[in-house]
Amino acid sequence: MPGSISTEAVVLGSRKLREADRIVTLFTFDLGKAPVVVKGVRKVTSRFGGRLEPFTQLEVRLHRGRSLHTLTGADTIRTRAAARSCPAALRAGLSFINLLGRETNELERRPRTFNLVARFLDVLDALAKSDVEDEYYVRLALAADLKLLLLAGYLPSLISCAGCGAEEELASFSARAGGAVCSGCAGEDSFPISAAALEEMRNTLEYPLSETRAAPQEAAAREIWRAVREICRYHLGIDLKVPPWWSEPARRPG
Ligand SMILES: [Zn+2]
Repeated sequence: MPGSISTEAVVLGSRKLREADRIVTLFTFDLGKAPVVVKGVRKVTSRFGGRLEPFTQLEVRLHRGRSLHTLTGADTIRTRAAARSCPAALRAGLSFINLLGRETNELERRPRTFNLVARFLDVLDALAKSDVEDEYYVRLALAADLKLLLLAGYLPSLISCAGCGAEEELASFSARAGGAVCSGCAGEDSFPISAAALEEMRNTLEYPLSETRAAPQEAAAREIWRAVREICRYHLGIDLKVPPWWSEPARRPG
């Protein structure tokens, strides 16, 4: 398919290809996840240079190749440099990008997912310019993960039991059953989940990321993370790495 294409894109990451070239993975509005060849990017005179940092949003021009497209032009829309220079924001962004990269197929058009990626990174960047606690980034990354799973078609049942439909005694979570389960349906593949964690998950899916405000209770955050991890493992075959905040005590500024 010869010719060229212009589309909006977010840089997810890159790796070396040959001596002077790189493969940059973009998440684009029109093509979904797209690895593209960037020629000569490692030369000092490269016209792309610093514009291909993770989180950067660009208007790109691509030359269609048989297997890989080649980047021929890029205009920066947003750099999101603040999010990259704040360690907690960087961690949150990279953990979401890790899930995104593994959950999506190459060249599968997913404009709603593109919008989620862009919004999430915008919120991260805005937060990084303010003074918020690290826990807040944990909540935001979990919220983005849940919204991504929703767009991918793995919305867990959170209001009624995924096993029998009962609306009472939802005290466990089973990825295999498809969400919260009642005490009668809880089995070996479920784990205890609090009402606070379930409410937090419902709120996350109902409200935009920019309205994610208070940090969650640490116990609820851990339960939500476990639910996300088990959905990924059971339905997508993805084993998520345990995030740094899971084992390290939370640090508060000041
Ligand atoms: Zn049940």
